[in-house]
Amino acid sequence: MAKISVVVPCYNEEESLLFFFEAIEKIRPQIPTDFEYIFVNDGSRDKTLEVLRKLHDENPDLVHYISLSRNFGKESAIYAGLIEATGDYVTLMDADLQDPPETLIEMYRMLQNPEVDCVAARRSDRSGEPWLRSAFSHLFYKIINKISETPIIENVRDFRLMKRQMVDAILELAEYNRFSKGLFTWVGFNTEYVAYENHERVAGETHWNFFSLLKYSLDAFINFSELPLNLAIYMGLFVVFVDIMAVLFVIIRAFFWHDPVSGWASTITIILFAFGTILLMLGIIGKYIAKIFSEVKNRPIYIVKEKK
Ligand code: UDP
Ligand code: MG
Repeated sequence: MAKISVVVPCYNEEESLLFFFEAIEKIRPQIPTDFEYIFVNDGSRDKTLEVLRKLHDENPDLVHYISLSRNFGKESAIYAGLIEATGDYVTLMDADLQDPPETLIEMYRMLQNPEVDCVAARRSDRSGEPWLRSAFSHLFYKIINKISETPIIENVRDFRLMKRQMVDAILELAEYNRFSKGLFTWVGFNTEYVAYENHERVAGETHWNFFSLLKYSLDAFINFSELPLNLAIYMGLFVVFVDIMAVLFVIIRAFFWHDPVSGWASTITIILFAFGTILLMLGIIGKYIAKIFSEVKNRPIYIVKEKK
C-alpha cells in the first residue's frame, strides 16, 4: 500500500502537538494509504521533545521524530523532515493546526490524477491577521514577483502534498540558504491549488515578528533574484551620468563667467550622493557575498541529536 509521510516542523509546540496528532488521526481513515509521522523538533525550549517521545512510545511504528541539536529555523527543519520521510507521498504541515487536516483528503484525491505532482493549499483570505501584516505581505509578493525569475504565488503556505518524485527533486537542492516557497516552484512539476480559509493557531504563539518577516523577505529577494545586483550597475551608471553633467556645467561656467571657486555646496552634494550610492551598492554586493560564503562553507543544514 502507498504511504503518506506527514512532516511537521515543531518549535515550542508542546501545547499544539497533541491537538495536531488527534486531528490527523481523525481524518486518517478517510485516506486509503499507510501513514507515518515525521516530527522535527527544531531545538524547542519547552516540553515539545518530551511530548514527542511519549507519542513515539505509544505509537512506535507510526510516529517518528528527529530532534535537532539547536534551533535551525523552519526551512532547515523542513529539509530534515523531508530527508527522513519514506512515503510515496509527503505532506508538510505546521503543528499549530493552521493547516486544516481535512484538506489532506481533497489533496490526496486530486493527486490521483497522474498529471498532478503536488497539491498546495492556498489561503482564500487572510482574516484573523493584523491588516498591517497582510499589507506588507501583499507588497512582498508584488515585489518578489516583479524581480524574481521564479514565480512565487501569493497566499500559498508551505502546506502541500507532494509525490515522491518532486520530494526527491527538492532534496537535491541542498543549498544552505533555503527559501522553500521558491524551491517548490523552481523544481517545476505540476502543482494544483486548493483554497481553504485561514485559521487561528490552536495554541502557542507565532514565531514571526516584523523583523523576522523583513529578514525572510530580504532573504527571498537575494536568493531568488539578481535584480539588486543589476540595480547597482544602473545606479552606478546614473551617478556617472550625473557626474559628467556636473563636470560639464562647472567647466562651461568657469569658461564664460570666470567663477572657479563658487559651487562648493553643489560639489559636496555630488560627492555625498556618490558616496552614499557606493556604500549602498557595497552593502548589496556584501549581502550576496555573505550568501556565497555561507554556501561555500558547506556546513550541514541541520544536526540531529536524537532520532526515533
Ligand atoms: N517552526 C520551526 N522552527 C522555527 C520556527 C517555526 O520549526 O524556528 C515551525 C512551527 O513550530 C510551526 C511552523 O514552523 O509548526 C510554522 O510556524 P508559525 O506557526 O510560527 O508560523 P506562521 O503560521 O505564523 O507563519
Ligand atoms: Mg502557524
